[in-house]
Amino acid sequence: MQNTVLVVGAGPAGLSAAASVAAAGHRAVLVEKEEVLGGAPILSGYARLIPSGEWAKDAIGRMVARVEQDPNVTIHKGTRVTQVDGEAGDFTCTLSNGGTVQAGAIILCTGFTHFDSINKPEWGFGTYEDVLTTTQMEQMVAGGKIYCPSDGRTPERVAILLCVGSRDRQIGREWCSKVCCTVSANLAMEIKELSPETDVFIYYMDIRTFGLYEDRYYWKSQEEFKTKFVKARIAEVTRAPDGRLLVKGEDTLVKRPIVIPFDIVVHAIGMDPNEENPEIARIFGVGLEKHGFIERAEHYTNTCGTTRRGIYAAGAAYGPESIDDSISQGHAAAMRAVADLHALVRKAS
Ligand SMILES: Cc1cc2nc3c(=O)[nH]c(=O)nc-3n(C[C@H](O)[C@H](O)[C@H](O)COP(=O)(O)OP(=O)(O)OC[C@H]3O[C@@H](n4cnc5c(N)ncnc54)[C@H](O)[C@@H]3O)c2cc1C
Ligand code: SF4
Repeated sequence: MQNTVLVVGAGPAGLSAAASVAAAGHRAVLVEKEEVLGGAPILSGYARLIPSGEWAKDAIGRMVARVEQDPNVTIHKGTRVTQVDGEAGDFTCTLSNGGTVQAGAIILCTGFTHFDSINKPEWGFGTYEDVLTTTQMEQMVAGGKIYCPSDGRTPERVAILLCVGSRDRQIGREWCSKVCCTVSANLAMEIKELSPETDVFIYYMDIRTFGLYEDRYYWKSQEEFKTKFVKARIAEVTRAPDGRLLVKGEDTLVKRPIVIPFDIVVHAIGMDPNEENPEIARIFGVGLEKHGFIERAEHYTNTCGTTRRGIYAAGAAYGPESIDDSISQGHAAAMRAVADLHALVRKAS
């Protein structure tokens, strides 16, 4: 019987899982394919996080420091798991760096892949320099200056288009990415704070600032920061003769076509399944649900499980998720893995 728990992926979920395994007195081995720990918020350079308002590098940086300083956590960066043999309580995992880990349980915290806006070509990304994604806009906010990438001018108007790569059956993305309405309302306020002369418009199908976020983001961005919300269906983004961007669509409230010029258009990109999931499913022997995220074992009695006994998952690996919930799920998966290991030991003795 092995006491070690292998955690794959060092984003918010994996950092939480590894810290919780160690806090429970077990050894955690954390394997991350990138050279940097922290997952999407660090790798993609997020600005201030919802709902804490803390800079991503500080908030997630604390989580990274906690595992780096924990003697019960061994970290392999720039590494993948290439093979898994054995069963619950006694897995042998082969690593791409030549190492081997004997682990009693495995937690997959392999997260998601940002939707690639190139797959929505009619909305101008990849064609016009001033069409950006939310992650690029967050990086601009983190840099402290709002400007048009094409020529450096301060934008008079910025449009944020919601649901890019989410809730879109035409391109096979039926799911809601859960956080992007709130992230976008927050981004609109950050843009206005840095560039008071810029007007921000949000184009939406529905607004889903779920839970406690309604007044803090949706209403606040309208009432205090004058963000304009336009309920519309977008047809295309083109360029006007003067070089500005034209967002063309239908205002679905008044049922009329609308064309408004903008200086920057931002795609609020959604959360796709990790593009490596077919390979992850093969290596770890776990199932995927119909959209390609990791399949949960059972919703009510084994929420942290996968279709393979002894292998658990947490965070955006299961589907679109917020950081706070990914952290909670990482902790929950660690506790469940440790509890199941203790049960196996009791059974064996
Ligand atoms: C534009 C945008 C802004 C967002 N802003 C916020 C916000 O302000 N607040 C909020 O709550 N949520 C926000 N989110 C959601 C947030 O990104 C996720 O909740 C969070 O990143 C999920 O954490 P995770 O650890 O599950 O996955 P990830 O952050 O995706 O981390 C997964 C980790 O696993 C690693 N990995 C993947 N595959 C392998 C493999 N095969 N082997 C080893 N390692 C692997 C990856 O490199 C990565 O480090 C935002 C999302 C988007 C798209
Ligand atoms: S959270 Fe909002 S922007 Fe994101 S997919 Fe859902 S409805 Fe669309």
